[in-house]
Amino acid sequence: MSTILITSTHHTVHTHQHPEHAGRLAAIFAAIAADGQSTATYADIQLVPVTTIERVHPPAQIAWLNDQSHAAQRVPRLDSDTYILAGSAEAAYAAASGACNAVDAMMQDKIAFALIRPPGHHATATVAMGFCFYNNVAIAARHAQQAHGLRRIAIVDIDVHHGNGTEDIFAADPDILYISTHGWPLYPGTGARSTYGTGAGMGTTLNVPMPAQSGDNAFVRAYTDVVIPALERFQPDAILLSAGFDAHWDDPIGNCRLSVDGYLDICALIKNAAERLCRGRWCAVLEGGYSMRALAGCAHGLVRLMQNLPRIADHLGSKPSDPHRADATIAWLLANHPLLRPT
Ligand SMILES: [Zn+2]
Repeated sequence: MSTILITSTHHTVHTHQHPEHAGRLAAIFAAIAADGQSTATYADIQLVPVTTIERVHPPAQIAWLNDQSHAAQRVPRLDSDTYILAGSAEAAYAAASGACNAVDAMMQDKIAFALIRPPGHHATATVAMGFCFYNNVAIAARHAQQAHGLRRIAIVDIDVHHGNGTEDIFAADPDILYISTHGWPLYPGTGARSTYGTGAGMGTTLNVPMPAQSGDNAFVRAYTDVVIPALERFQPDAILLSAGFDAHWDDPIGNCRLSVDGYLDICALIKNAAERLCRGRWCAVLEGGYSMRALAGCAHGLVRLMQNLPRIADHLGSKPSDPHRADATIAWLLANHPLLRPT
C-alpha cells in the first residue's frame, strides 16, 4: 500500500503567537524531507462540498464561523484559548476537507495521514473551542459512512486532551466508537471513565483517563488491555486515528510522559488492529502536539510506520515513569465498561 500525506497551504493564514501555529506543520515537513528512505507522496487538499461539513455542523454554525472570521481585524478570540483571524474559517474548511480526503485515499487502499490544522477534536457540532473550529475527524467519520458506505467506524484519539467534541457528536451513535486516552485531570475536564455514551450509543464511548505523568509503560498497558480489546469487541469497518502528539513528555501544555517510541508503540498496536479487524483500513488525522521536536519526531515516525520502514532511534529519549500508573483505571474499566466487562 502506498502512503499519502494530505496537506495544503490554506492553514498558513491561520497562525499567531500561540502554541497552535503554522510552524507545527513546517516542523513535520522538515523531518519527513530529511528522510532519504520515505517514499510517501504529498497530495493537495481537495475541498469537499459544504454538505459534507453539514453532516456534523449545522449551516448556522458554519455561517457563524464565517462571520466571526471575516469580521476579525486583530486577533480576536473565540475564548481564552482560541484565536480567530480573517482566514481562519477557510483554513478550518480546508482542514476538514483534508480529513475527508484521507478517508477517500483509505478507500483506495492507500495509507493516508492528513497533515492539517487547525485541529478539530474539541469542536462540538455547535461550539468552536480549544483551538478547534470544525471537528475534522468527526466529519471524516460521517464521510466514510455516507460517501463510502462503511457502517461501523472506530475513532481512536491519542491526543493528551480529551476530545470532548468528538465524544459529544457521537455520544448517542451506536455505529461510531469513540476511544480516548487522555491526561487526567487536564483541559477540557471531560472524559471521565464512567462516561460511556447515551441512549443507543451506550457503550460506544470509551474514555481512559491517564493519571498525570503516565509514561510509555502505562500507555502501552492501557492500549493492550483496554483499547485493543474494545476494538476487537466493536469490530469496526475502519479505524480513524485522531493523531495528537501532546502526550509527549516534552510538550509544553500536556501532562504525560510518553516518548516518541512510546507513541509509536501505541500507533503500531492500532495499525495491527486495523490489519486484523478491518483489512488495513485506517488513516490518521493530525490533532495537537506543541513541542516542535516531539511533534516532528512522532509524526515522522508515524509516516515511517505507515510505510513499514524500520523505526529510527528516538533521539529525545524517554523519561522515567511508573509503569503501574494507570492500573487502577484499567482494572475499573475492565470491570465496569459495557464494551469490556464480563458478560
Ligand atoms: Zn491536545
